[in-house]
Amino acid sequence: MRQPLVAGNWKMNGSLNSVRELLKGIKAGIGDVGPAEVAVCPPFVFIPEAQAQLADTPVAWGGQNLSAEAGGAFTGEIAASMLLDFGCRYVIVGHSERRTLYGEDDALVARKFAAARAAGLRPILCVGETLEERQRGTTEDVVGRQLDAVLELAGAAALADAVVAYEPVWAIGTGMTATPQQAQDVHAFIRSRVAGHDPAVADGLRILYGGSMKPGNAVELLAQADIDGGLIGGASLKAEDFLAICKAAA
Ligand code: PEP
Repeated sequence: MRQPLVAGNWKMNGSLNSVRELLKGIKAGIGDVGPAEVAVCPPFVFIPEAQAQLADTPVAWGGQNLSAEAGGAFTGEIAASMLLDFGCRYVIVGHSERRTLYGEDDALVARKFAAARAAGLRPILCVGETLEERQRGTTEDVVGRQLDAVLELAGAAALADAVVAYEPVWAIGTGMTATPQQAQDVHAFIRSRVAGHDPAVADGLRILYGGSMKPGNAVELLAQADIDGGLIGGASLKAEDFLAICKAAA
């Protein structure tokens, strides 16, 4: 039985004041959420605030990105060990915004995944196709290639305790959502791809759906057999909406 996970990706949003309010709101409502695991990924500078407020709650926190390097002369970068220093459990790796806006290719994403794993962080590996790739019928080729880069570098065992997020690029921040069947089909494909390497790891692997998940569509998406939670962007910025999705996952 896989424990559902709902993770909020706050992206580059908020101020110290608004983050305090959001954390306060999540803390106030988290008691009603039930057995789902919940995590938030604030911008780096707000991670100490998340740690201070969430330390005595069941809510975990994490980074939105990390360096593939362990340390050294890499101006502006953040190492896995630094995230661990601030109590992070998770780190998002290979988000489509990193891939498209910052040129992160499969090889770099795989190195970041391996760096996170080596340090003891749980990576949330994002994979997903663009609209053009879906229309061309290449969704499985793209998602398979993104997964294989990690499987080849880190090995299937590195996916134990890690998380995969299927995030169709065309659904991120657009208000368009994959239908539950579209999402389930790709989630099942991801699980079978991993099962080709290690059936036990595949069986325990949590695969989140991300892409305009909201309280209004979460129940149906989360009811699919291979959807084990959500990676939530826009709706994670409102405590009430985020908590409603967490409840749906429970
Ligand atoms: C995301 O960016 O990870 C995401 C899923 O965003 P949204 O929920 O806003 O589509």
